[in-house]
Amino acid sequence: MTVSMETIVSLAKRRGFVFPSSEIYGGFGSFWDYGPLGVELKSNVKRAWWRSMVYGRDDMVGIDSAIIMHPHVWVASGHVNSFTDPLVDCKVCKNRLRADDLVEQKCPICGGELTEARQFNLMFKTFVGPVESEASVAYLRPETAQGIFVNFTNVQATTRKKLPFGIAQIGKSFRNEITPGNFIFRTREFEQMEVEYFVRPGTDEEWHRRWIEERFQWYLKYGIKPENLRLRPHCENELAHYAKGCSDVEYLFPMGWAELEGIANRTDFDLKQHTTHSNRDLSYFDEETGEHIVPYVIEPSAGADRAMLAFMIDAYDEEPDNTGTRVILRFHKDIAPIKVAVLPLSKKEPLIKVAKEIEHALRKTFVATYDETGSIGKRYRRQDEIGTPYCVTVDFDTLEDKAVTIRERDSMEQIRVPIAELKAALREKLEPED
Ligand code: ATP
Repeated sequence: MTVSMETIVSLAKRRGFVFPSSEIYGGFGSFWDYGPLGVELKSNVKRAWWRSMVYGRDDMVGIDSAIIMHPHVWVASGHVNSFTDPLVDCKVCKNRLRADDLVEQKCPICGGELTEARQFNLMFKTFVGPVESEASVAYLRPETAQGIFVNFTNVQATTRKKLPFGIAQIGKSFRNEITPGNFIFRTREFEQMEVEYFVRPGTDEEWHRRWIEERFQWYLKYGIKPENLRLRPHCENELAHYAKGCSDVEYLFPMGWAELEGIANRTDFDLKQHTTHSNRDLSYFDEETGEHIVPYVIEPSAGADRAMLAFMIDAYDEEPDNTGTRVILRFHKDIAPIKVAVLPLSKKEPLIKVAKEIEHALRKTFVATYDETGSIGKRYRRQDEIGTPYCVTVDFDTLEDKAVTIRERDSMEQIRVPIAELKAALREKLEPED
């Protein structure tokens, strides 16, 4: 089924996934706040990524570097000079646009004449310390990657990892985008999930191929439909200044195919640049050959917010039911923000007491919720709409047979389980993906 961005934005707001930031002041500059369900959903996306990329492999370790780094980092990486987009202004309606997005040389909003394009640097500037001078200028990082490169030697020396190995990091990045939009697809503050995978020069193209395949499969594994996912190799003139090759994993968003993740071959560009600018040796000592080598780097770089948006859009489904329409987010169980909802069939004691006790017991193991408001059908639908995979219903028979019903979201199948075995049954169903 195809769903519009408006439907997703409105569901996200109504159910507490994502709110416009500073909403009581009218919102602000395409920033967004994640509500109670959004924070769970995004952290599940990040957890699934970390499980696959770090815990699931013996050639990967993680770090968490500072958002504000030495300003020389961004000179060495090329961001101060070349992290720019071409900007044009409309002389009539004064809108600012990215020149590379334009189809014709006139304003797409009012048809007015445009100014000459000028290069606009996307990095947010700030000052460190009390004096606002050129000497105290620093930047909010526009990518997490550089925090990995500058720690290459620290990590390699402390973990004694041998090539090939990778360093993973998840964290906020900031870009003063000229034209943010499409909800959380393009924002000025977002989270990246990046790996820098260090390999011997000469093996880089093979590793690049492997990583492209691995990353493509990751999205399928967590439920993205194959027909909505594709790979797009970059052509020569699209490549970033540091890249020998790059392929994007693209998703069919409501506004069309767009990048979810880029997998680039960054060569030895960054390590060499930091060696030159810092005067520190960032080479790797190869015990087999007795040589110092500068590794090549393959970089799978994904956006947590974009992935979350894709998971929401892809999971969205509607079905007719006896009250009109049943909306379902068919999330993969690992991605679903709430795993179990406990629902007493009626708002009567002692059902409520029993149901609350069950919910409290489950809470220690799963992200669980409790709901007693409205008819049972309405409550099932409320859970379907946020993608909760299992509802546990406590009914009058429960008082006699000490058993409850587990209802599965997609099939709506119900099974009866003794309360004593409920946790084990749910644990088996909700065991995270390998
Ligand atoms: P685009 O061409 O869409 O601007 P990019 O090629 O500049 O993206 P990269 O620098 O490769 O993006 O960043 C890696 C990933 O970080 C992207 O695939 C995306 O998922 C995420 N990302 C980048 N910029 C943004 C943004 N402004 N808002 C949300 N996510 C972003």
